[in-house]
Amino acid sequence: MALDIKRPNGTEDILPKDIYKWYTVEKIAREVAETYGFSEIRIPTFESTNLFQRSVGETTDVVQKEMYTVKAKESEFTLRPEGTAGTIRALLQNGLLNEALPQRVFYMLSCFRHERPQAGRLREFHQFGLEMAGSASPSADAEVISLAKSILDKLEIKNIELYINSIGCPVCRAKYHEALRNYFESRKDDLCDTCKDRLVKNPMRILDCKSEICQEIGKDAPIILDYLCDECSNHFETLKKYLTSMEIEYKVNPRIVRGLDYYTKTVFEFVTTEIGAQGTVCGGGRYDGLIEQLGGQKIPALGFAMGIERLLIVMDKQNCDYIQPKTCDVYFATMGDDALNQAMILSQQLRKDGIVAEFDVMGRGIKAQMKYANKIGALFTIVIGDNELENNIVKVKDMETGAETSICINDKFKNSFTDIYLDKVLNKMDEDDNSDLLFSFLGGEDNG
Ligand code: ATP
Ligand code: MG
Repeated sequence: MALDIKRPNGTEDILPKDIYKWYTVEKIAREVAETYGFSEIRIPTFESTNLFQRSVGETTDVVQKEMYTVKAKESEFTLRPEGTAGTIRALLQNGLLNEALPQRVFYMLSCFRHERPQAGRLREFHQFGLEMAGSASPSADAEVISLAKSILDKLEIKNIELYINSIGCPVCRAKYHEALRNYFESRKDDLCDTCKDRLVKNPMRILDCKSEICQEIGKDAPIILDYLCDECSNHFETLKKYLTSMEIEYKVNPRIVRGLDYYTKTVFEFVTTEIGAQGTVCGGGRYDGLIEQLGGQKIPALGFAMGIERLLIVMDKQNCDYIQPKTCDVYFATMGDDALNQAMILSQQLRKDGIVAEFDVMGRGIKAQMKYANKIGALFTIVIGDNELENNIVKVKDMETGAETSICINDKFKNSFTDIYLDKVLNKMDEDDNSDLLFSFLGGEDNG
């Protein structure tokens, strides 16, 4: 029978065979963020449409073309196209900005944008992102950039470049917009319809337009760095100094303006050329006006977001290491009801120690059970039949070597099995030098 309902265009199923890759990114991103003093925040999937119009900006692609807006009875909501607006709304609404500053929060969430689906560009995608609120100092910019860099480094992603730029503040932006209007005026008839409107309302947005014509026309446009006021210029120079002190390599790219309106001063992107056109794996910057714009006090802030799908495309391509998925440690093959019952009792004991134990729930014969154990890559099998039940002795079979060890079914069962199990795991580790496995079994933290 053909499946006649398929997942929507631009969405993906994340299957069990790939989930450990996600765990790797999530674990490392979380751990690195925590070492910089960030805590996790979780926000709703949908917000008032207004929130995004007011923060992301009326003239951005996201608001003009990409939002999923739903009407529910009398209210209108939008599925979050990004995480910053909702996070700042949550900080404000819960009074966190009245507490000790800076506030540092990170999030992992799905975002929704109605874009043309292609490799690395989805309609539902996932971000790891964070926001720091309270500091106007370029040291905070350096801190946030270094955090992003640490995550990429820990994931062992290579060949990735950091581009930075400053897009100034409303003071310098006014002069810059004037210069852009003059520049585009002579070719305004060639701009796309959206950009004709942007020329009036927000000319800097033209530089972020995805249309080839607009990009071509914008190639020689004036650059914002020539229009920075003293404060913004000093901020940018100090940031560069800090990045150098932190030994973080960067390139100034005056063409980066970012696709969301709330940015001020520093903007940055981590870009790789290895995965085609969708090479920006992380984008961020400062947004000193946003909190006030959303009804809060004048509190400077900044942040970034990484696209997890894009990170995984790069990691796959570069053969990066992932945390190993958990697989079956021991499979009980049983004959008869009493044996099944015994397998259940023993499995429960082992699982309390984190050992992955499985037994037959399909009513299969012993041969088929062993075949299944093989298929799922069980490390050990234990057969339980009448003999074993009678003598209270089972054989633990190492599925790799075929070696068998007899152990008693009594109150020492768990200890006896664990000894055999640990022996195997430690041996394997010597072979693979895979210390993650040991650490996770021993319940410790992998710091290395
Ligand atoms: P782009 O220029 O590629 O459209 P953007 O400027 O719209 O990116 P941001 O809003 O800054 O992206 O989002 C941060 C990160 O989220 C991006 O750097 C990218 O890694 C990821 N991202 C953005 N849009 C998508 C999408 N449609 N599908 C997958 N990942 C995305
Ligand atoms: Mg975009």
